[in-house]
Formats: sequence, structure tokens, C-alpha cells
Amino acid sequence: MATTRLYLFDIDCTLLWTKGAGRVAMGHAIQDILGFSPAIEDLKFGGKTDWLLLQEILSPHGYTDEDVARIMPEYDRAMGKHLARIICDFDVEPCPSAHEVVAQLRERDDALLALVTGNVRSGAPVKLRAAGFDPAHFAVGAYGSEAMNRDALPPLALARAVEHYRQNIQPQQVIVIGDTPADVQCARALGAVAVAVRTGYCKPGELEASRPDFLLDDLTQFAQVLANLGA
Ligand SMILES: [Mg+2]
Repeated sequence: MATTRLYLFDIDCTLLWTKGAGRVAMGHAIQDILGFSPAIEDLKFGGKTDWLLLQEILSPHGYTDEDVARIMPEYDRAMGKHLARIICDFDVEPCPSAHEVVAQLRERDDALLALVTGNVRSGAPVKLRAAGFDPAHFAVGAYGSEAMNRDALPPLALARAVEHYRQNIQPQQVIVIGDTPADVQCARALGAVAVAVRTGYCKPGELEASRPDFLLDDLTQFAQVLANLGA
């Protein structure tokens, strides 16, 4: 019998590009719940959880880590609301072959799909729908509103997948797919296979230095991963 594998997909710059919708929604959400607009134009988003971003944004304004944890549920709701409101103004696009790879994996009996994303829980389905994905195709996920450190997310997603699919899945049967060194690192933290795609905004050499198991130009090359895994 084929080995069952759990594929954990990052969203931004791995499955899709939102072309700045997340940043704009974040500004509205912070304004909404805290009543001011901090400068976030130059903030580097790639690979970070929304929790970590919020900490970076708010700590210069005197907010403690505990404050950020306390406002996270409210921030999650506000992000979902504002993303849904503004996303139609952005030219959201799926990354090359992202739809095809998701469809191919869904057809396989030995593949389970889930999300590991820095997005808050309410924001992830908004972005997926805008790029033509059905959020229901990712039965479980772990989100950037659940932990500051991305390394905490793959174990959460794995535990949820084990429960949802009622299958015993070991970390070495997990494949984390993302576009930043933080995605590679969170795969390593679990003991999972790390697949990096060059569809994000990493500097030249940055992804190589993070030493993923597979480094792809984009998901068009995903068949290489399946072939190498013997899947
Ligand atoms: Mg990403």
C-alpha cells in the first residue's frame, strides 16, 4: 500500500499572489480595533505569522506580547472582514500550476491536503476563494492567529489532520510547501520534508541557504517532488 502523505501548503506566494491586499487589510484591521494607523508600508511580510507581524508593528507603540495575544481574536475577525471587503480591488492570481497541483493531489488516494499559513484563520479562505481555490479542499489548517512562531504551526496542522482523516501520519510523511526560509525552518522543526518555491520575494541565494529538500522555480515542477518521494 502506498505511503499516505500530508501536504501542508503555505498560501501567500506559494498558492497565490494577493498583490498587497493583506497589507492593506491589516492597516484597516489595526485602525478598526486600536484606533490608529501604524506605518506598515516597509514591513517585510514573507514567512511571518500575522501574530509576529502584529508584534513587530505594535511593540514600538508600547504593546507587550501579552497585549498582542489578547487582541488576536478581535484582530482575526477584523482581518477577515476587511479582506473580504477589499479583495475584489486587487488582481489576485494563483501561482503557476497551483490549481493543477492541488487538483492532482486531490485525485490521489495517498495524499491529504492541509494549510500551514501565516494568515489569520478568517483571512485564509478569503484569499483562497479570490484566487479560485475552494477552501474546503484543505480540510484542516494551522494559522498565523494561533501562534507567533511559525514552527508551532506544522505540529498543529498534523494533529488536526490525524484527527480529521483518522489516519496515523508521522512527521516524515509530511511535506511542507512554502516560499520562504521560515517555511523551510518550520518543516525542519517538525521533521517534515521541506519544499521551497521561488514564487515569493526572497533575495537570490536566500532559499538555497535555508537548505530545503526540494527547491522549485514554481509548482509547475512539483512532479519532481512526487517522483523523488516515490509517490
Ligand atoms: Mg508565503
